Amino acid sequence: MPTYEAISVIPEVFGPYLGASVLGRAQERGVFSFVAHDLRTWTHDRHRTVDDAPFGGGAGMLMKAGPIFEAVESVSAAGSAKPHVIFFSPCGARFDQAAAERLSHEERLLFVCGRYEGMDERAYSLADEVLSVGDYVLTGGELAALAVIDAVVRLLPGALGDDMSAVEESFSDGLLEYAQYTRPATFRGMGTPPVLLSGDHGAVDLWRRRDALLRTAAWRPDLIEPGEVSREEHAWLESHAEDVERLRASGMGTCEDVSPEGEGC
Ligand code: SAH
Repeated sequence: MPTYEAISVIPEVFGPYLGASVLGRAQERGVFSFVAHDLRTWTHDRHRTVDDAPFGGGAGMLMKAGPIFEAVESVSAAGSAKPHVIFFSPCGARFDQAAAERLSHEERLLFVCGRYEGMDERAYSLADEVLSVGDYVLTGGELAALAVIDAVVRLLPGALGDDMSAVEESFSDGLLEYAQYTRPATFRGMGTPPVLLSGDHGAVDLWRRRDALLRTAAWRPDLIEPGEVSREEHAWLESHAEDVERLRASGMGTCEDVSPEGEGC
C-alpha cells in the first residue's frame, strides 16, 4: 500500500481532511496510509525553535535548515523504501494532473511543508522535486500537500467507489470535462440537453466529446495541443466558433442556451 508522510509544524491539520469522506474510507480500506510528523521533534532547544531571521535582513522569519535535514533523514531512514521527497514553494514546478498521475505510482512520498517566509535555501537540496500549486502565496505548504495527496489518492486503484469515474474527467483525455446534469430534467426554467435523456448511448458519447471540445476551446484553449484533436474535430470546432464564443462570454457554469427545445451548448 502506498505510504504518504508529511513533515510540518502543524501536523494536526492533516487528520480532519484526510480522515473524511472518500479519503477517509480509502485509508480505512488500506488504499493508502498517512502519517504527519511534527518538525519540532527534531529541535534541541527548550523553545523547540524551527525558524530564524534571514541573513541580509528583511521581513519575517525563515525555517532553519537543521531541523528539516534531521527530520527528512530520520523519517527516510525509518521506513523500508527511500521516500520520494517533495518540497513546496511558489518557485516550484506547477502541479498538474500529469504530475498527480506520475506520483500515484510512487510507493512512498514524503511532503515537507514550509511556513513563515519559506526555508533556508540549503534545505531544498533534500528535495527530489519542488512543487507549486499555483501562482499565489499560501501561508504554508500544508494546504499544498493536501491538494497533492487528494489528487494522487483519487487515482489509486480502489480509492473511488466507481473505478471509471477517475478515467472520464477533466484533463484525463487532455480536455476539460463535458457538462453533466441530474434530476430534475428542468430546474427553475433551465433544461437538460435532450440527447442526454434520449437513451441513445452513441449519441450521448458524441455529444459529450463535442461538449468537452467546446468547453476546452472556450475556457482553456491552451490545453488543445496538436495531435490531441483530429482534423475532423478541428473542422467541427471551427464551424462552431459562435458556440465557443458564447460559452466563453457566459463564463464557467453559466451556460444559458440549454433548454429542452434548444440544441444545448
Ligand atoms: N517567501 C516565499 C513564500 C513563502 S510562503 C516566496 O515568496 O516564494 C510559506 C510556505 O508556504 C512556502 O515555503 C511553501 O511551503 C508554501 N507555499 C506558499 N505558496 C505556495 C504555492 N503556491 N505552492 C506550494 N506551496 C506554497
